[in-house]
Amino acid sequence: MSENINQEKGTLSINTENLLPIIKKWLYSDKEIFLREMVSNAVDAMTKMKHLSLVGEYQGELGNLELVIKADKDNKTLTFSDSGIGMTADEVKKYINQIAFSGAAEFMEKYKDNNEDNSIIGHFGLGFYSAFMVSDVVEIITKSYKDEPAVHWTNDGSAEYTLENADKTTRGTDIILHISDDNKDFLEESKITELVTKYCNFLPFPIKLGDKEINDQHPLWLKAAKDIKDEDYKEFYQKLFPMEMEPLFWIHLDVEVPFRLKGILYFPRFRNEFDTKGRIKLFCNQVFVSDNAKEIIPEFLTLLQGCLDIPDLPLNVSRSYLQNDPIVRKISEHITKKVSDKLNSLFKKDRENYEKYWEDINLFVKFGAINDEKFYDKIKDIIIFKSTDGCYKTLNDYLEKNKGVNKETNGKQTVFYATNEEEQITYINALKSHGMESLILKSTLVDINFLMFLERKLGNVTFTRVDSDIDQQLAEDGDKSDDKKDEKESDEDKALRELFEKNVEVEKESDKPMIKIQALKDENVTGMIVLSEYMRRFKDMSMGFMAGDDGDNGLGMHTLVVNKNNPKIKNLAELAKDEANADKVKQTINHIYDLALLTQNQLKGQRLAKFIERSNQMI
Ligand code: ADP
Repeated sequence: MSENINQEKGTLSINTENLLPIIKKWLYSDKEIFLREMVSNAVDAMTKMKHLSLVGEYQGELGNLELVIKADKDNKTLTFSDSGIGMTADEVKKYINQIAFSGAAEFMEKYKDNNEDNSIIGHFGLGFYSAFMVSDVVEIITKSYKDEPAVHWTNDGSAEYTLENADKTTRGTDIILHISDDNKDFLEESKITELVTKYCNFLPFPIKLGDKEINDQHPLWLKAAKDIKDEDYKEFYQKLFPMEMEPLFWIHLDVEVPFRLKGILYFPRFRNEFDTKGRIKLFCNQVFVSDNAKEIIPEFLTLLQGCLDIPDLPLNVSRSYLQNDPIVRKISEHITKKVSDKLNSLFKKDRENYEKYWEDINLFVKFGAINDEKFYDKIKDIIIFKSTDGCYKTLNDYLEKNKGVNKETNGKQTVFYATNEEEQITYINALKSHGMESLILKSTLVDINFLMFLERKLGNVTFTRVDSDIDQQLAEDGDKSDDKKDEKESDEDKALRELFEKNVEVEKESDKPMIKIQALKDENVTGMIVLSEYMRRFKDMSMGFMAGDDGDNGLGMHTLVVNKNNPKIKNLAELAKDEANADKVKQTINHIYDLALLTQNQLKGQRLAKFIERSNQMI
């Protein structure tokens, strides 16, 4: 039997009279979410209807299950009409008067003293009540699928409501928002379309603005991976990220136990290393929640793009809580594992493409390795480096091939690397002519951090840039100059060193190179500049880039290695004994230094002008 209500007035079960103004203010910046809440409620109501019909609890016509949004600028109303399950008078009392309002009160109670970053708590938990963020008055006209009369509920945000019978005859619910003056933009069609596309695009029922369907309805992540073609994945990517280049490859996530997770993660083409904005869209049952997945997954994974739909996510709690949540931890581990599995399978089964993608994905992989121990363990054997051999190889390949070729540094195997193949070509070639191979890295902060990470992690390798500390590597086998540090240097070496120190001309005293006498194998070399690997790294780190990148920051502390095996150098000491040759000696020494500077791209300004003048005279 249907109950008949002649208008009823009542008092909502909340204690705080001024709840609304506080909530309005609290959520000011995020008030557009009211639309998501209205649409979600409508979609829930239609989903329930579909379910009832499916299990046979409802035998009547289902009709069109759709949500129609109407904006009426004259009357300043925004109406959401769904053909869902509807509510009886009792249900309105229970779900709207008690539950929705008490939920809001509880929310306030819980968060009123909480000054923590509230970007996430604003997202969920307010539900129906969020309508008041943009409305002066809210009406509900609803008719349940049960055979009971329709009811009309009205409230102006105060604790007083009215409830009376209505003459609506069709099943479903109309929510009528009387939009307040300062929120008039929510009556604009463009605004509504924008918000539906942002929050509700992938909901599984048509959402219409007037007659026009404005949502997409096809969340690709819900389909089975085996039914999806590459083209579909690419097309879907374009929908999520309209302005981006085509992605490289992707993984489809689909988990039911012990947590529910569906999603697609795309590996994007290279973006610069400082662009770490979150580009993974979080959904909760197809409703968009956030562009920022940082709370859910390790930070390095946010360099990927895509979508994650996690129905069980406790989104209405704070960030610090989320990070300790066991479900969140498991989700995070699962995704990390899937990502590393994908990379491993590419490496093993499609090495060619893996190498092709490497330039785009290496930053991500390295960043991940540094930041996530578990990830590093899973991918450590598939990190590859381009080598001066012309091919890509793993560090192990390199170490094996160069064992016993490169001399050890402090008991550790030396790995040479170049950060700029063109500028460092003299050094690369010098090493090559001794059968030594170098790895080629990009001069990025991630790379230098990664090298240091590997040194710490592995313990038995040392990375040395091709222009750093390499004179020992190029020295004659018998050469012991470095071991003799504590011993007295020979008289000849000392004389030669002092000769260079006296004659090398520099603009500022601080530019002066240290001079080191060395017997290099290649007797054609007169001199070369070497940097200290550690000093240089320190400098690069504090500047944010490896020096090779901008070239214009001066050498800083450096050493001019003078090759006493070179016949001209041998001759020089002899020549210098005669005062009459002083000029010639000085010129030769500065010429040697200039040539060395040239290989470092550091011959500039006045020095360069002098060098050219001197060279011309020599011709
Ligand atoms: P939640 O949706 O999280 O349960 P809400 O405050 O949004 O909380 O809504 C409270 C309740 O009101 C819902 O659970 C539902 O029973 C009812 N409700 C809200 N909107 C509708 C609607 N459009 N159709 C049917 N029932 C609704």
